[in-house]
Amino acid sequence: MRLSKRVKELPPYLFAEIDRQIAEKRAQGVDIIDFGIGDPDLPTPPHIVDTLCGEASKVENQRYPSYRGMPRFRKAAADWIERRFGVTLDPEDETLALIGSKEGIANLPIAFVDEGDIVLVPDPAYPVYRTATLFCGGVPVEIPLLEENSFLPDLTAVAEEIWRRARICFLNYPNNPTSAVADLGFFEELVYYAKKYEVLLAHDNAYSEITYDGYEAPSLLQVPGSKEVSVEFHSLSKTYNMTGWRIGFAIGGKNIIEAFGRVKTNIDSGVFSAVQLAGVEALEGPQDCVRHNREVYKRRRDRLVGALRDIGWQPDLPKATLYVWMKVPDGFDSQGFTRELLDRTAIVVAPGSAYGDHGEGYIRFSLTLPDERLEEGIERLKLAFA
Ligand SMILES: *Cc1c(COP(=O)(O)O)cnc(C)c1O
Repeated sequence: MRLSKRVKELPPYLFAEIDRQIAEKRAQGVDIIDFGIGDPDLPTPPHIVDTLCGEASKVENQRYPSYRGMPRFRKAAADWIERRFGVTLDPEDETLALIGSKEGIANLPIAFVDEGDIVLVPDPAYPVYRTATLFCGGVPVEIPLLEENSFLPDLTAVAEEIWRRARICFLNYPNNPTSAVADLGFFEELVYYAKKYEVLLAHDNAYSEITYDGYEAPSLLQVPGSKEVSVEFHSLSKTYNMTGWRIGFAIGGKNIIEAFGRVKTNIDSGVFSAVQLAGVEALEGPQDCVRHNREVYKRRRDRLVGALRDIGWQPDLPKATLYVWMKVPDGFDSQGFTRELLDRTAIVVAPGSAYGDHGEGYIRFSLTLPDERLEEGIERLKLAFA
């Protein structure tokens, strides 16, 4: 069957080779420890699961949900944003339910990008920003995230001509894969550029609640006057261990949310109402599960970073996210060191190069594996490399 150009021209899937090697080892009976994927191993808190079970049996929740999200869910989202960031939103016009934030990110360019338009995409980054742009005929222009700039994009290094042709600028802080964080001052600078060149800022805030040592991640919408040029993606996936449930939401200026909603009305039919009501329970119910998650990940972070440093490597100590980002030792590239770890310790990590050219030279460890597997991984690393 003839494939579309869109699909034929998709960049190669960079985990393909690693996945093949993992499958080969597993077939040989090797016990693989997976520091590769970022998918919480902890269960969804029971009060959220119980709400889903109760709501799923009600006939009114079994019909098509509303396209933009139930008023009850959107109010819960707006209230949560107000409590957490002090930003006031009109739930009706300034929030939109999403089938996970990935869905929203993937569909956003349809509303704002025409053939040949530029979209600014950080590099390294979550791959969806780039592929969603390509699917709309847009031209992704990578903005490098460099260690010497604390993995923040250097906005002054983007040429005036590029800014003028840009329609969207994607951002993600706390950042996957580098774990970098951004402060409000950086967001203020961005809003200045966005207004000057009429560029939509699309901020992916999936890790706003996965933070350590008292650090509090900001919202882009805390910048006064930012709403009219901003859309921000929030996800219940990492905060409440709900990756499989597929629920998140977008917030932003009325005109932006309206256009975005019009696209979605033509593509999907909303989030299962029982899942939205479970989402309400997550956002409004007890939040000790969020604190517990932070404690668990912090303990793992400290164990892993400590062990990597004992070996003589130099991982960053992340203030946020589920990831430890580390330069590979001299003499290796990302794929080569990923292979070395797999061969010598049967540990899987994500090669930085899978997230873009500027991820080359780094690897990413995820903290989403049970403590005893993490400890076993640390033992293997020490035996092989210390
Ligand atoms: C995990 C993740 C998401 C969340 O995706 P959902 O679709 O909400 O599960 C979004 N962005 C980044 C960078 C992520 O790592």
